[in-house]
Parts: sequence; structure tokens; C-alpha cells
Amino acid sequence: MTEITIDYDKCEGADCAECVDACPMELFTIRGDQIIIQNRDKCSLCEICVDICPNGAIKVKKE
Ligand code: SF4
Ligand code: SF4
Repeated sequence: MTEITIDYDKCEGADCAECVDACPMELFTIRGDQIIIQNRDKCSLCEICVDICPNGAIKVKKE
């Protein structure tokens, strides 16, 4: 299992959405003004999202 978490205290949501555009597997989706994560099992652990998030809000780890 892959665990992907967004720290919503740090995330700027729809105003940022860098992770939505960056994830090659399209795991991040905008819902309202919040970012949600779907299809975690498709994550390739590339960590592009971790690198691109300007606020260090995303953590990815393999369980
Ligand atoms: S890149 Fe980071 S701050 Fe921006 S929407 Fe994604 S999780 Fe939030
Ligand atoms: S590690 Fe890569 S595939 Fe997984 S959520 Fe982040 S950008 Fe998407």
C-alpha cells in the first residue's frame, strides 16, 4: 500500500493546484477549493508531487 497525505494546514488548495498538474498518474483532483487524492494504488512513488509542492504539504511513502 502507498500512503499519500496532504497536510491541509499547509495546502493552499485550488489557489495552487501544482500537484494536480504535476502528477503523471493524475491522482490529485480539485473538489471545491480542496485537493483530494484518488486511486492511491496507481501511485508510482515518483515523488514529483513532493518536490513540486511549494509548501511541503505532501508526503508519500510505501507501507
Ligand atoms: S502543490 Fe501542495 S500546496 Fe499546492 S495544492 Fe498541492 S498539496 Fe496543496
Ligand atoms: S509520487 Fe508521483 S505518482 Fe505518486 S502521487 Fe506523487 S506525483 Fe503522483
